[in-house]
Amino acid sequence: MNLVEIKRKPDFPAGKVAEATFWVETFGCQMNKSRSEHLSYRLQELGFSPAEESGEADILVFNTCAVREHAAERAISIISKFARERKEKNPDSIIVVCGCLGQLEREKLLGKDREINVLAGTHNWEKIPLLIKKAWQEKVKIVDFQEEPPSLYEEKGYRYSSKISAYLPITFGCDNFCSYCVVPYTTGKQRSKPREIIEEELKNLVEEGFREVTLLGQNVNSYGRDREREGAFEELLLDIEEWLRGIKIWVCFLTSHPRDFTEDIVKIVKDSSVLCPYFHLPLQAGSNKILQLMRRGYTREDYLNKINFIRKSIPSARIGTDIIVGFPGETDSDFRETLDVVREAQFDVAYTYVYSPRPGTAAYLLEDDIPVCEKKERLHILNDTLRSIYQEKLPSLQGKVMEILIDQEEGGLLSGRGANNLRVYLKELSSAEVGEWREVVLTPGEGNKVYGSVKR
Ligand code: SAH
Ligand code: SF4
Repeated sequence: MNLVEIKRKPDFPAGKVAEATFWVETFGCQMNKSRSEHLSYRLQELGFSPAEESGEADILVFNTCAVREHAAERAISIISKFARERKEKNPDSIIVVCGCLGQLEREKLLGKDREINVLAGTHNWEKIPLLIKKAWQEKVKIVDFQEEPPSLYEEKGYRYSSKISAYLPITFGCDNFCSYCVVPYTTGKQRSKPREIIEEELKNLVEEGFREVTLLGQNVNSYGRDREREGAFEELLLDIEEWLRGIKIWVCFLTSHPRDFTEDIVKIVKDSSVLCPYFHLPLQAGSNKILQLMRRGYTREDYLNKINFIRKSIPSARIGTDIIVGFPGETDSDFRETLDVVREAQFDVAYTYVYSPRPGTAAYLLEDDIPVCEKKERLHILNDTLRSIYQEKLPSLQGKVMEILIDQEEGGLLSGRGANNLRVYLKELSSAEVGEWREVVLTPGEGNKVYGSVKR
């Protein structure tokens, strides 16, 4: 651990906690969003209040992401912009930078932006609210890192950003070391949240009237393996089913790892009244050569067998994925294999990325040999293929009846999602309200949107 305190302007007035407001700006994945919700909860516990908007906050926290270089650079430029602007708007405010980029690139951040008042990482997360309080009250600069991740993951308490849907992280960290990925380095070994804490949090969410809970983990399927418990994720799903018996609530989970995803998981979801039939299974690449270089631990055949099993068992299920193009050594024919798997899997949702070399990862040692224009061209072709698959599937939705949870109102237009994660826009004004479940009849409409009319 290393703690540096640099005295700030001597004439700087000491800050009072009770009057101070905070804002947490989050970059990256759902896990980071949830971590920000926990940090916000802890800051409120210490007496700070949430600000109405970022520009007004006395304490501006940036919870950063380092997964791709672009995301990292974007975070750095936004932090610098805020640092410049706050000098005029609120010169007494303080800037806190934490999260994956803090953990990974502390020298770069310290060197580039001396306006940062608190710089921390991921391993000392539970301590950050206290560091913020100290920096605010004593007007000192703090740089604090913990080299080793904590051994337990017992995080509780979140300031949820929605009243309808809540994230509930069940694991933190990752043991997989996929060759392109920094996550195991920034978050440390996988730690599973004790089952009793998950039960308690889930029951609290039910009591607070939440309609939907998403269990989170970098690889939810390996829940419990750090505690030498094989099959613990399947057991947890069965426990959840038991705990929530007779209660109307939806439970989803993200992200599934294709290597650890079992047929039992599909069977449990199929028979469940609360678990949602949406499966997020990142393919990453469709060629066995690239999958091996990526150290993903499955082949295209394994992957497609699992997809086929889901499609056969739960026809209404939807499947999402992540795909990377332009990994080192990816030839045209490797890329065509990815397109073939995409066509066969008939993905419903996809997040697509251009490979970004990340220092410290195994793939960083491989030559990044695909020219940028070629990577962009492949991304373009991939996205076109995904779009046409989606469009071809749309007409089959015509006339189908589905239950949706209404969770959004934008410009007077209500929309909701099915248990399988399909977004549906309500066609006409109805008496429905955000937070309600309604049965709708589906009609695919313009702009690839799906509309629904509420069944009377
Ligand atoms: N735990 C999840 C994903 C974590 S990161 C999983 O195992 O699938 C989210 C996504 O970012 C990954 O699925 C991958 O598609 C993408 N990603 C991660 N590292 C990347 C890199 N170096 N370059 C491009 N995309 C990357
Ligand atoms: Fe990264 Fe692989 Fe872990 Fe996902 S499973 S977080 S891609 S190392």
